[in-house]
Amino acid sequence: MTTSTGTLYVVATPIGNLQDMTPRALEVLRSVALIAAEDTRHSARLMQHFGIATPMTACHDHNERDKGERLVARLLAGDDLALISDAGTPLISDPGYHLVRQAREAGIRISPLPGACALIAALSAAGLPSDRFAFEGFLPAKSHGRRQRLESLASEPRTWMVYEAPHRLLECLDDMHDILGPQRQVTLARELTKTFETLRCAPIAELAGWVRADSDQQRGECVLVVEGAPAPAAEAVSAESLRVLEVLLQELPVKQAAQLAAQITGERKNQLYQLALQRGKSAE
Ligand code: SAM
Repeated sequence: MTTSTGTLYVVATPIGNLQDMTPRALEVLRSVALIAAEDTRHSARLMQHFGIATPMTACHDHNERDKGERLVARLLAGDDLALISDAGTPLISDPGYHLVRQAREAGIRISPLPGACALIAALSAAGLPSDRFAFEGFLPAKSHGRRQRLESLASEPRTWMVYEAPHRLLECLDDMHDILGPQRQVTLARELTKTFETLRCAPIAELAGWVRADSDQQRGECVLVVEGAPAPAAEAVSAESLRVLEVLLQELPVKQAAQLAAQITGERKNQLYQLALQRGKSAE
């Protein structure tokens, strides 16, 4: 007799407002054999609120690899399992990667149940370009590491987002001010979906001043959505280099064209790449 293997459901839970729990998430959490939770005591409150009695087991950063093996064995034996984290979407700055990886390697069906995710909620309301974006998770906690990371992000042309702890928010904004300059637009998205939800978009200098002046803004959970670096002006490279780039773009993909044009002209590859992207956009 062959037993079919179970499904691993990756289930998003609310980031503050319990009404954001989806009916499908509730149905799945009620029906699976076991819920793997980042913190069972934390999630017990959610389960209690919705009257869900499914057993839970802890699956967090410190036990995920070993626990993963045991959970995959249950999936292989035919049990359906759900993975949840304390809030929002598992794996997004939360545990779950190793379990999902192990399950995928074992050929288990994995099904995501989408729902709340702080970075997507913040981006959707930030008022900054959202056609292309990057997520950087948490920046390093210490200033030296944080500044290094910010330096590597300074020329990122896409909108980018970071999660930040409230007690480091001001330090982080001050470092952003030093490295990205005072004018870059940043949206602070705080306490999303909760009573004191606040979204404020302003140039870094103004935003840092506002946060410094109001200690309430240094509490709660927050996401910073940062405007991408301004595109370099076409005048920044010579007309000859621009012509080389344009000819190459007729035959090659953007990245290759920029790389080759940089070799031919001696201009900076990244600058040519940004210009090539701009050209692509205006041709659309
Ligand atoms: N998995 C979660 C998700 O899908 O967004 C993120 C978990 S991560 C450990 C927690 C961080 O997410 C917080 O420190 C904060 O930066 C951000 N966050 C979570 N809930 C939030 C909320 N309601 N408002 C703003 N930021 C939030």
